[in-house]
Amino acid sequence: MDQLDQQCKECSARLFCNDCMCSMCGADNTIKENNTEEETVSDAPVSPPEVENKMPSVFKQAKNFARSTVRHIANGGQSVPENLKNARLEICSGCDKLSGDRCSECGCVVSIKAAWASEECPIGKWERYEQTRGKCGGCGGK
Ligand code: SF4
Repeated sequence: MDQLDQQCKECSARLFCNDCMCSMCGADNTIKENNTEEETVSDAPVSPPEVENKMPSVFKQAKNFARSTVRHIANGGQSVPENLKNARLEICSGCDKLSGDRCSECGCVVSIKAAWASEECPIGKWERYEQTRGKCGGCGGK
């Protein structure tokens, strides 16, 4: 569409009506006082730059996942309580290593990693879960 054919969506005037001062009419299209240059500010929404963390190599990811799986199986496939899983995921959600649903430090899917008791954050933000069975170390009871 030719620019001169555009119509203001706010006041229905042609370009530069200077009445409603919407972006179409001139609020963002500023003509400098000396009238020698025209400065135009884009209406395009500004979004923060997408920062994508570099993931480990596919080989390293496969190795990390295999190790995690072995640890998980050796730990009896034990999962953490739901509240601990949520607490872990809360920490991950605020971590700059999170890339989508994966941790860029190890390449693991954090929702799985956070659910497994045998797992820990590779940079020490949360620890593996040790469930105490039987006698409590503190009270000596069953
Ligand atoms: S596991 Fe650790 S390093 Fe990875 S995203 Fe979670 S908090 Fe960050």
